[in-house]
Amino acid sequence: MSLITSIYDTNHGYRQNLTTIMSYLESLIPISDHPLQFKYRLQNPTTMTDALVLKDVHKSYGNREAVHGISLEVKEGEIFGLLGHNGAGKTTTLRMISTLLRISSGSISVYGHDVATEPEKVREVISYLPEDAGAYKDLTGRAYLEFISKFYTSGDAQREMVSRGIELADLGDRIDSKVDTYSKGMMRRLLIARAIMPSPKLAIMDEVTSGLDVINAYEIREVIRSIARNGVTVIMSSHNMFEVEMLCDRVGMMDQGNLILLGTPDELKERFDAKSLEEVFVKAVMKE
Ligand code: ATP
Repeated sequence: MSLITSIYDTNHGYRQNLTTIMSYLESLIPISDHPLQFKYRLQNPTTMTDALVLKDVHKSYGNREAVHGISLEVKEGEIFGLLGHNGAGKTTTLRMISTLLRISSGSISVYGHDVATEPEKVREVISYLPEDAGAYKDLTGRAYLEFISKFYTSGDAQREMVSRGIELADLGDRIDSKVDTYSKGMMRRLLIARAIMPSPKLAIMDEVTSGLDVINAYEIREVIRSIARNGVTVIMSSHNMFEVEMLCDRVGMMDQGNLILLGTPDELKERFDAKSLEEVFVKAVMKE
């Protein structure tokens, strides 16, 4: 039993076995390529597929522009972090990628599908977890996952999706308690399970660990790492620079609707002669 599993079993009666869930996650989403080829792709960016491409994306609310011409690419299997303080434009950007907000100009493509002209195709390959997501409080966790699964599939495939969701949520017998009795961490686990159980190719997560305690936040970061290892691309926003530095392969820093920096955490720290991403951000914003 791993250290992390022991901690959870001791402190949280409802948790079962994180290690089992992690191995299950590893088999969750089939990777078409041989694992060695996939690893090779990760180590050789020129051979990697573009999962997400934003070109000169603008978004205005009325006559106020919230996003000013963002361009970036995210490769398949990457964990990409959008950083920035309140009002920087992170949620707006994630909602445009998710097809929930119309872009004002520019283009966004997800696995080759344009969000403006092929939104249905985009929705088939993404899942979006908003920061303020909630679940129906009168349902049990299990009933909630069953309800959501019916939007995707039916019959055996639906039953499989629900059992995958239940394993991902890892709530033990509390899966049969009503959602309004869940703690914040339990609720977030249920919502992550809901977002991942349909096996998306691109998972879009807004402030996914916001307000969680150290253990819950750690566990959710492990889930994110695990799905990315299996080829799922992740784009997430966070205020937590430390979290992004630990978790993300590449980072985009936003300030007042602009993408002011783009690179790996190590590249950015080297460029700004900084010890942390927090220091990079402060130096970059002060320089402007
Ligand atoms: P936070 O970290 O606080 O969630 P954020 O980086 O996600 O912030 P956004 O929520 O994208 O930022 O907001 C960017 C800008 O757009 C802000 O100035 C915000 O007030 C504005 N904005 C967001 N949604 C709307 C809306 N529906 N109507 C008008 N303005 C909006």
